[in-house]
Amino acid sequence: MDSKPRVVIVGAGFGGLTTARSIAGLPVQVTVVDRKNHHTFQPLLYQVATAGLSPGEIAAPIRWILRSRSNIEVLLEEVLDFNLDQKRVISKDQTLDYDYLILASGATHAYFGHPEWEPLAPGLKTIEDALEIRRRVLLAFELAERHGASGQGPMPLNFVVIGGGPTGVELAGTLAEIARHALKHEFRTIRPEQTRILLIEGSPKVLGTYSEELSQKAKEQLERLGVEVRTSHMVTRVEAGAVMVGEDRIPAQVVLWAAGVAASPLGRRLGVPVDRAGRVLVRPDLSIPGHPRVFVIGDLAALADESGKMLPGVAPVAIQQGEYVAKMIARDLERQPRRNFHYHDKGSLATIGRAAGVAQFGKIKLSGYFAWLAWLFIHIFFLIGFRNRLIVMIQWAWSYLTYERGARLITGSNDLPGWTEPRETDNTASRVDVREPVDVSDAASVGRTCDSRQGAGATVDQSSVEPI
Ligand SMILES: Cc1cc2nc3c(=O)[nH]c(=O)nc-3n(C[C@H](O)[C@H](O)[C@H](O)COP(=O)(O)OP(=O)(O)OC[C@H]3O[C@@H](n4cnc5c(N)ncnc54)[C@H](O)[C@@H]3O)c2cc1C
Repeated sequence: MDSKPRVVIVGAGFGGLTTARSIAGLPVQVTVVDRKNHHTFQPLLYQVATAGLSPGEIAAPIRWILRSRSNIEVLLEEVLDFNLDQKRVISKDQTLDYDYLILASGATHAYFGHPEWEPLAPGLKTIEDALEIRRRVLLAFELAERHGASGQGPMPLNFVVIGGGPTGVELAGTLAEIARHALKHEFRTIRPEQTRILLIEGSPKVLGTYSEELSQKAKEQLERLGVEVRTSHMVTRVEAGAVMVGEDRIPAQVVLWAAGVAASPLGRRLGVPVDRAGRVLVRPDLSIPGHPRVFVIGDLAALADESGKMLPGVAPVAIQQGEYVAKMIARDLERQPRRNFHYHDKGSLATIGRAAGVAQFGKIKLSGYFAWLAWLFIHIFFLIGFRNRLIVMIQWAWSYLTYERGARLITGSNDLPGWTEPRETDNTASRVDVREPVDVSDAASVGRTCDSRQGAGATVDQSSVEPI
């Protein structure tokens, strides 16, 4: 066993997990390291955030997924650094030697120089993020009801989603669905269907990477669901309980961030050139300059296709790159020359809400019910585990028929950042700020992003190389 090449894979997302599964048949010894014990199916995170599914239905333990591969060990570890000269991965508690390293640690949220916005406007990347969004959304309705019950009159609810990429669009559409249908008959002093849901996008259209026609259709479908779409609007400030859009101050009980991602900070630890979003500029075989046995794949890799367009930060890119790297390692072992990586774009899909979506497969464009159906089946097909596929299918069929959202649990604290409500003290109603507004110094416009799924910006161009 010890004489076999040691392959260390950092990250068990779409890219890392695919590499591990594809490489398992080779005479190699594999260690998969992830700081979480589970693989998350990120495309369905918004369903957890909007109480449609539970975390266990869209995530699975990495150890369980790889259980039948006896040459793969799984370690729960946070990787911190690398020593490429000594071929070592440095994690919190140990160092791991490798012959091949595959770095697939993905991406994280970017707040464009405003980390203080993060606690006020959570983004959606992990199960924890999804549960926090779910908590805030459900809590806002509860607090509004409590306010109404205290005799202070109805409390208008505003939810603001920043970023009109696929994540922002699916969040806004589903929030509208919850407010208009799922909660409609359950409250006594508020009318959830009157909740104002705003989607703010910096560029002139939502779903910026889709054709003009499909972007327009997506906007119309959102508006039909009751979402107010503001394109060409820049968010200049996020504060507790409000969002500044240009000079306009929009009160908001819940603010969600879908406007930007940055590459995992691990990319910069390799000491090779990265682009402005921190993605590693890989060679055509996905290895890094000067280290042919170190590969970077998925959201963390920056590579252009044949036409010079950067590959998008989507699951099929990560999956195909994972399969490719396994093949190149096999070729190395057989002393065959490597080939360049080519991405086969099979199309893109975005869901907007109930029976609403857009899809683009080459020249074929779909919108509405059929795009939504295609989205549904493709996502169920790619979910990990037969049990999860079955449960998700049943859950969706049920909520399609009944509008119910089965996972409406508020867990954790009952405080909502920015919530202001009257409290009875000494028989006098006084307004109490649950949290002080954050003073964000200068106004900065929402900027660029490396992920085609995020809104409010363009993809980072390839020329923006930042040498270390
Ligand atoms: C909300 C949302 C919805 C999406 N919807 C779609 C969709 O519908 N279709 C689509 O194609 N794509 C979608 N995407 C994009 C897609 O999920 C990503 O492109 C894909 O996950 C990238 O795969 P990856 O392997 O590069 O990274 P990830 O899948 O993000 O995996 C990275 C892994 O690395 C681990 N990790 C990170 N840092 C460390 C560290 N320091 N030490 C150890 N482990 C670490 C993480 O825990 C994680 O498991 C969506 C993304 C999001 C956030």
